[in-house]
Amino acid sequence: MGKDMYYGDDYKYIPATSVLSGSGIEVLPDLYQYTVQIVNIHMVGHPESNEFVLIDAGMSHSAKMIIQAVEDRFGEKVRPQAIILTHGHFDHVGALIELIEYWNVPVYAHQLEMPYLTGKESYPEPDPTVEGGLVAKASPLFPNEPINLGNNIHTLPEDHSVPHLPEFKWIHTPGHAPGQVALFREKDRALIAADTFVTVKQDSLYKVLTQEQELNGPPRYLTTDWKAAKRSVETLAKLNPSVARTGHGFPMRGNDLKTGLQHLVNQFDTVAKPDYGKYTH
Ligand SMILES: [Zn+2]
Ligand SMILES: [Zn+2]
Repeated sequence: MGKDMYYGDDYKYIPATSVLSGSGIEVLPDLYQYTVQIVNIHMVGHPESNEFVLIDAGMSHSAKMIIQAVEDRFGEKVRPQAIILTHGHFDHVGALIELIEYWNVPVYAHQLEMPYLTGKESYPEPDPTVEGGLVAKASPLFPNEPINLGNNIHTLPEDHSVPHLPEFKWIHTPGHAPGQVALFREKDRALIAADTFVTVKQDSLYKVLTQEQELNGPPRYLTTDWKAAKRSVETLAKLNPSVARTGHGFPMRGNDLKTGLQHLVNQFDTVAKPDYGKYTH
């Protein structure tokens, strides 16, 4: 175990941060969001139960921070039953190898993300020319080569069930990444939206830093299929979620979420899709 895992050659620390970094928000009693620099991880499970799942794995070199946050919530020496990846972008798998080595837990992702998680294929290059802010301009610096998790990565079950989370279903939301998934719980309509839409303008360095709340389309610099991205937002809007946690930004709920999603669906081509960039056609 572990010996066959490695990050890409371009793996490195990314010095970006936000006012939320290092803090957690209990969105619901069994849903906890924790921010690592500019990205959220999610812990699903009641803190007193010891049975929980981690969603996503933060930024590079953040394993210590993540382990500490998990132990602060669930107790010393606990470990999640599994790690579920919403997708394999660098800011969602940054500490994954250290976490697998430390906890020895299985990791699950969608079949279409497998090439990027088994060292076979790089994601398409991020687009620094895309209409957007400084983050897009800096995007060529982001790690893009695939991580290799060897035999520690498993595909999500085809029946849309989520390992260890019987109340949740996974929903394929391609566009931002080919095998991106969101997780949805019918009984309280709680949604983990991944980067299908986010609640901060992830392309603006200033807005990322201040985390000004604003429901928006997926981060532009890494999104390569805007038609699919739009359909995926429509899919999630139809679920009429009561609360959404996203890969970036504060959780959003109630009317803010409903009207924000409706606006995004109606105006997707003007507010979310960039006016220019190499993946816009
Ligand atoms: Zn992403
Ligand atoms: Zn992301």
